Amino acid sequence: MNAPEQVAPLARAAAADRAELARRLREHTRGEVLFDAASCGRYATDASIYQIQPLGAFVPTSDDDVAAAIAIARELGAPLLPRGGGTSQCGQTTGAALVIDGSKHLRRVIDIDVEARTATVEPGLVLDHLNAVLKPHGLWFPVDVSTSAQATLGGMAGNNSCGSRSIAYGNMVHNVLGIDAWLADGQPVSFGPVAGLVGRERAIAVFVRGLALRHHGEIEARWPKVMRRVAGYNLDIFHPQSERPYTANGSVNLAHLLVGSEGTLAVTRRLRVQLAPLPRHKVLGVVNFASFHAAMDSAQHLVTLGPSAVELVDRTMIDLARANPAFRPVIETALTGHTGGTPEAILLVEFSGDDRAALLGQLRQLVELMADLGAPGSVVEMPDEAPQKALWEVRKAGLNIMMSLKGDGKPVSFIEDCAVPLVHLAEYTDALTEVFARHGTRGTWYAHASVGTLHVRPILDMRRDGAKKMRAIAEEAAALVRKFKGAYSGEHGDGLCRGEWIEWQFGPALNDALRAIKRHLDPGHLLNPGKIIDPPKMDDASLFRYSGGYRTIALTPVFDWSAWDVQNNPTTEQTTAPGTGGDPTSGLAKAVEMCNNNGHCRKFDAGTMCPSYRVTRDEVHLTRGRANTLRLALSGQLEGGFTSDAVAEALELCVGCKGCRRDCPTGVDMAKMKLEFTAQRAAERGLTVADRLLARLPDMAPWARRLPRLFNLRDHVPGAKALTERWLGLSARRSLPRWRSDSFAAVAPGLGLATRAQVLDAAARDGKGVVLFVDTFNGCFETENARDAVRVLQAAGYAVHVATRTDGAALCCGRTLLAAGLAAEAKARARELIDAFTPFVDAGIAIVGLEPSCLLTLRDEMLVMGLGEPAHRLAAQALLFEEFVAREQRAGQLALRLRAATQPMLVHGHCHQKAFGAMPPVLEVLRLIPGADVGVIESSCCGMAGAFGYEAKHHAVSMQMAELNLLPAVRARPDALIVADGTSCRHQIADGAQRDAWHVARVLAAHLAPAAATA
Ligand SMILES: Cc1cc2nc3c(=O)[nH]c(=O)nc-3n(C[C@H](O)[C@H](O)[C@H](O)COP(=O)(O)OP(=O)(O)OC[C@H]3O[C@@H](n4cnc5c(N)ncnc54)[C@H](O)[C@@H]3O)c2cc1C
Ligand code: SF4
Ligand code: SF4
Repeated sequence: MNAPEQVAPLARAAAADRAELARRLREHTRGEVLFDAASCGRYATDASIYQIQPLGAFVPTSDDDVAAAIAIARELGAPLLPRGGGTSQCGQTTGAALVIDGSKHLRRVIDIDVEARTATVEPGLVLDHLNAVLKPHGLWFPVDVSTSAQATLGGMAGNNSCGSRSIAYGNMVHNVLGIDAWLADGQPVSFGPVAGLVGRERAIAVFVRGLALRHHGEIEARWPKVMRRVAGYNLDIFHPQSERPYTANGSVNLAHLLVGSEGTLAVTRRLRVQLAPLPRHKVLGVVNFASFHAAMDSAQHLVTLGPSAVELVDRTMIDLARANPAFRPVIETALTGHTGGTPEAILLVEFSGDDRAALLGQLRQLVELMADLGAPGSVVEMPDEAPQKALWEVRKAGLNIMMSLKGDGKPVSFIEDCAVPLVHLAEYTDALTEVFARHGTRGTWYAHASVGTLHVRPILDMRRDGAKKMRAIAEEAAALVRKFKGAYSGEHGDGLCRGEWIEWQFGPALNDALRAIKRHLDPGHLLNPGKIIDPPKMDDASLFRYSGGYRTIALTPVFDWSAWDVQNNPTTEQTTAPGTGGDPTSGLAKAVEMCNNNGHCRKFDAGTMCPSYRVTRDEVHLTRGRANTLRLALSGQLEGGFTSDAVAEALELCVGCKGCRRDCPTGVDMAKMKLEFTAQRAAERGLTVADRLLARLPDMAPWARRLPRLFNLRDHVPGAKALTERWLGLSARRSLPRWRSDSFAAVAPGLGLATRAQVLDAAARDGKGVVLFVDTFNGCFETENARDAVRVLQAAGYAVHVATRTDGAALCCGRTLLAAGLAAEAKARARELIDAFTPFVDAGIAIVGLEPSCLLTLRDEMLVMGLGEPAHRLAAQALLFEEFVAREQRAGQLALRLRAATQPMLVHGHCHQKAFGAMPPVLEVLRLIPGADVGVIESSCCGMAGAFGYEAKHHAVSMQMAELNLLPAVRARPDALIVADGTSCRHQIADGAQRDAWHVARVLAAHLAPAAATA
C-alpha cells in the first residue's frame, strides 16, 4: 500500500473513530498515544513485504494502560493488534487496528524459580535480556531465535517461534507453561494445565476439547506430523501430532492454544516459561559436502547422533564469506581437502552438554558416520569455543551480505520455512531449486537442517512481476510440501503471507474448527483481524509495501547516491552500473529502501547501533523508524515530503555515529541520510544563528588563537552560560572547548617540521615521509595531541610535513559545515583539502589524521560529494594516526623505542573508528608499549557527537547515552589511563566522569624512551 486511497477498507471504516479513540486513550491512560501520520506509517510495517496503515499506535506504561486500552477499543469497536519487536516476517504485526507496542515498558522479569527452572515475565521482555538475567543461575531460555537480541517473549509466543537448537529443546509451544492474558471482552484469564482450570478458562478448555474430539479423524489425517508446524491454532493439544510432546507428562496445557495464535485470541499479560540448564560445553563438527543433495540427504543420519543443532551453510554463503577478507580465514578453517576446498554445502553439527568427554565421543561418532556414508575426511573437528563462535558469526554475516543486494529485486520471505520430514529433505530442496529456476530466480539455502526447515528466499521484484511469481512459486512449493507430508508454515508464522494456506493445509472442516475457536474467544473479531481466520490473499497488492503503483517523488540529492540506483539480475545477482536503476531521486530512495524492517537495529549490545534507540526505546528514534519515515516521505506518503518536520523529528536524535552503516545487515547509512536531509532542509529553510556559529567554528581559529580570552568569555563571565543557552541553545551545563594561544599554528615553527620539498625527498629516499592533517580540534583546543603526534613520528624516523592551504591557513575537512547542512561550502573545503594533499598523494605519501570524525570524512563523505577521482585517490591514502603507526610497524619501518607502561589503559573507541573497523590498530599500537595492559570499554556513542551534546535540547539524551556504558566503565577503573581518540569523547568523559582522557598519540609520546624523546 503506498497511497492514501489504498488504505485498507477496515481502516477507512474505523477512521471516523480514530479521533475519539486517541482522545479517550489520552484521557484514561498514561501511555503514549501516537496517531500522527508518521507514527502510523512507522507501525504499518514489520519484517514482511506488507504495509497496512494502523488506526494508531499506543505505547502502554503498565498493565492498567493495556486493560484500559482494551476497554476503550471494545467500546468503540476498534480492532487491536498487540506487538513486540515487530520482527515478524509474514505481516503478523501489520493491520488496520490500534497497535499496542509492549516492548518499551512491559518488560519486567517478574519471578525466577531456580529450583523449578521456571521464569515469569512480561511480554515485552527481549529474549537476550531474559537470558542475561538467567546466566548467573546457570540457566537459559533455550528457544534461541536468531532475532534473540530484539524478539520479545510475547512476540515469540505469538508466533510459536523456534530456534536453531529446537531439535534439542523444541519450539515455544514446548516451553511455555502458562499465559495470563486479557480476552477481547477485557476479562483477565489465566491459562495453564487444563486439569487445574476453573470458570471461563475451564469453559474454553471444554469447548476446544469438544472441537478436537469432533475432528479427531481429520486431525489425525491432515495434521503434519513434524515438530516444525506453526500454522493455525494448536487444536491438536487435545490430540497431539507433534513429533515432540507438548508437555513432559502428556497432560494438556491450555496456554498452548495461545502460543502461535498471533495475537488473534487474547492479549498476553504474563508468560510462565520453562528454563533449561546452560550447557557447560559445546563441540562442533563441520561436515563438508561435494554436493548440496548429499548434504540434505545426510541430515536424517546426522540427527541420530543426538546433536543440539545441525545448521546448513550453502555454497553461495561460503563464497560470500570467502570474498570478505575478515571472514576468509575463519571459513577456511571449516573446509576440508575432501572436496578440494570447495564444498557445495557444509553442515554445522553441534553437540552440547556438561560432559565434555562424552561430547568429544559424539564428535568421533560423527567422523565415523561420515566415513560409513562414503565421505571419509569430510569433517572438520572444532572442539574449542573460540573457532566455533567465529564460525557462527560467519554464518550470520553471510546471510547479511545476501540481504544487502542492491536493486529492486530482493530476497522475499514467503516459503522460507516449509518443514519436511528429513528423509525427503534432499528431494524437496532439489525440486524447489528447479521451481525457482523455472521462474527465473534462485535462492540461497541456510538454517535448520536438523528439523527439515530450510530458509530460502527467492529474489523477486515486487514492483514488477514479483507478485505473480510469488503465487506460482508458493503453489508449486505447497504441492511439494503436500507430496512429502510436511508443514507449509514451519517457523515464522502465518500472518498475511501464509494465512490463506491454513485451509489448504488442514482442509475446510479443520479450518472451520479454528474459526469456531476464534469466534468463541473473540466473537467481535477485534484482535488482530485478518490473521489466521479470514486472511486476505497473500498476493493482494493493496497490502504490499512495494507494489506496481509504488512511486517515489523526484528529488535532486546533494550527495551522490548512484551506487544504489541500480537493478539486479535475480539469477546471477549481478547489478547494473551505478545510476542506471531509474530512481527519480538518483538512488537516495533506493538507499532508504534497503531497510527491510528486520529490526536488527533494536538490539541492545554495547556496540555502535543504535544509541538513540537504546536510550529512548522509541520506534521513531530507531534506524528502522527513521528509514521508514524517509521512505514514506520519499514516496509521497507523508505530507511535507523529504524536508518535513516529521522527518526532522525522526532524525533529531540520530547522532550520526555511523553504527548502522556497519551493523545494519543491509548497510542502511542513516548518518549520511541525515546529512542529505540537513542539506536539503537548510537550503529550503535556512539556518539558525547557532547552526551558523557552530558550522563556522574552524573559521574562527585565526582570531580565537590571537584573542583566546575574548573567545573563552562565555565560560567565565557570570550569566553568560545562561544567555548562550537562551540565545543559541547551547547547554549552560556544558563547558565549551577552550581556545588557546599556544595553538598548533603558534608552536609549529619550533617542532622541526619538514618542508614540502623535504618530505617529498624523504618519501622518495626511504619511504619515511608523512603528511599530518592537523584538524581544527587538535590544532586549536588540544594542541598537545598534534604536537605529540609529530614527536612520535619524528622519533620513529619520519620526516613530518603539515600541509596547509595555499594561503598558509589550516586545512579543514568541512565536517562542521556538513553537519549544519552547508554542503556547497563543505565541498569547497574538501576541494582545498584535495588540492593541498594531491601532490603528496601522487608521491605515495600517507596523509595521517588524528581526529576520527575529520580524517574519516576523507574516506566517506568526501567520496559522495562529486569530487571525482582525486577524492578517491586521497581516500586510499588517508590514515588515522594509529592505522599509520600499525601499518609501518607491520612493515618493519618503525624505529620506535618505548619505555614500559606504568598504568593499565582503558580504551573508548570513537563511533566512526568502530564503523570503519579502525579499532584494532588502536590496540595494536598501544600494545607496542612494553608491558601494556590494554582493555576496551564496550560502549557505543559517547553521546557528545560533535555539537549534539552541547545543545541544551539534547543534553539529557547525551548524558543518558554516556551513562549506558562509557561513564560507568570509566568510573569503575580509577587506576586506568583512559584513552579516547575522539575530541568529543574526551570532552564527554571530562564532563561526565571528571577524568582526563588521552589521544593515542599522547600516550605513545608519554612512553617514548628518553633518548628517542629528545631526538
Ligand atoms: C532476520 C530474521 C530472523 C528471524 N529468525 C527467526 C528464528 O530463528 N526463529 C523464529 O522462530 N523466528 C525468526 N524470525 C521471526 C521473528 O523474529 C520471531 O518470530 C520473533 O519471535 C518475533 O518476536 P517480536 O517481538 O518481534 O514479535 P512481533 O513480530 O512483534 O509479534 C509477533 C506476533 O506476536 C503477537 N504478539 C506480540 N505481543 C503480544 C502480546 N502481548 N499478546 C498477544 N500477542 C502478542 C503479535 O500480534 C504477532 O502476531 C526472524 C525474523 C527476522 C527478521
Ligand atoms: S535499519 Fe537496518 S537493521 Fe534496522 S530494520 Fe532496517 S535493515 Fe534492519
Ligand atoms: S547513525 Fe547512529 S544514531 Fe543515527 S541511526 Fe545510525 S546508529 Fe542510530
